Amino acid sequence: MQATNRSKNGLCGGIRSAEISTVVRTIFHLDMDAFYASVEQRDRPELAGQPVIVGASPDRRGVVCAASYEARAFGVRSAMPSRTAWKLCPAGIFMPPRMEAYRQESRAIMALLADFGGQVEQVSVDEAYLDMSHHFASFDCAAAIELGAKMKSLIHARRHLTASIGIGSNKLLAKIASDHGKPDGLFCISENEKVAFLRTLPASAIHGVGKVTSDALAKRGLITIGDIQDFTGDLRSIAGSFANQLKLFALGEDNRPLEFDGTIKSISVEETFERDTQDRKILVPLLMEQADEIARKLDKEHLAARTVQVKVRYSDFKTLTRQMSVEDPLESKEDIYSIACSLLRREKLVQRPLRLLGLGVSGLGPPSTQLKLPFESPS
Ligand SMILES: [Mg+2]
Repeated sequence: MQATNRSKNGLCGGIRSAEISTVVRTIFHLDMDAFYASVEQRDRPELAGQPVIVGASPDRRGVVCAASYEARAFGVRSAMPSRTAWKLCPAGIFMPPRMEAYRQESRAIMALLADFGGQVEQVSVDEAYLDMSHHFASFDCAAAIELGAKMKSLIHARRHLTASIGIGSNKLLAKIASDHGKPDGLFCISENEKVAFLRTLPASAIHGVGKVTSDALAKRGLITIGDIQDFTGDLRSIAGSFANQLKLFALGEDNRPLEFDGTIKSISVEETFERDTQDRKILVPLLMEQADEIARKLDKEHLAARTVQVKVRYSDFKTLTRQMSVEDPLESKEDIYSIACSLLRREKLVQRPLRLLGLGVSGLGPPSTQLKLPFESPS
């Protein structure tokens, strides 16, 4: 790989930090398996092996927050309307979310991870990157897997939950490795094999390749990561300013450091009406537009969200906000819209005219690299 934007007047002006080679790190990505549903199954042993669906009851309008693997096998997933989930999986056991219990569990797991030393970047309630480089003289999959196995068995012994751990020389590879091994996975991508390993994966498995970028790549025939590795044309015309980074990612190169304070915490938009309104014909299209705007911003920043928040202000300036969190990161405008609608209905926020309507997302982190199943959009 070569520095592609060498400065005109030389003297290392054009070398970007991502292209300076550094010591090979050992990065773990830990992701709890079907976290919310697994906590429910652990706390109520009669639910073990059952299709557990955490979220609204199917006889009420509302959405799924999380689903156990048994329910996922039927195509149930986060942000899907509960009615749709019930149609797909009539035997599903629906349970209301217990967010405080999940947060408490999260703190207990993160405390166990702290015992292994090294830097930890907690990405969400059930996901973290860990820099374990200090345990090893150099990057070595066999030794790293041994440490990963210890970590997994400690979590299982103390918390009775399973985690998937992915290991690689950077965040990109570690995340792909943990998704690859799921559930109860432990998988390492070696430096020698990383380029070959990535070849067959879809382009969308690369961090930052959302729907817009993957559609643009597909139009030019770039379907797999291998296609991007081999592409000799002008990637900038397809992926814009992301092109250099994309090529490096496709080759398994990623120098992003672990972060302890994400730069963007939330994204939100709001609109004040000229005249207060509770007319669905005005509110529904506006909410869709807002969801679309947020989804575009997420895509641009290569982020996904776990929490959706709605905000309303009434004629008397009384302002309310309500939020809902789901387990799998959300990227699409349909999912964001679906949750926002569900919140407005559940909390009966539009029973009198609104002066303002706002929509926001937080709990931002990397998008899921798992392939998603299509589902019918909310009516
Ligand atoms: Mg998880």
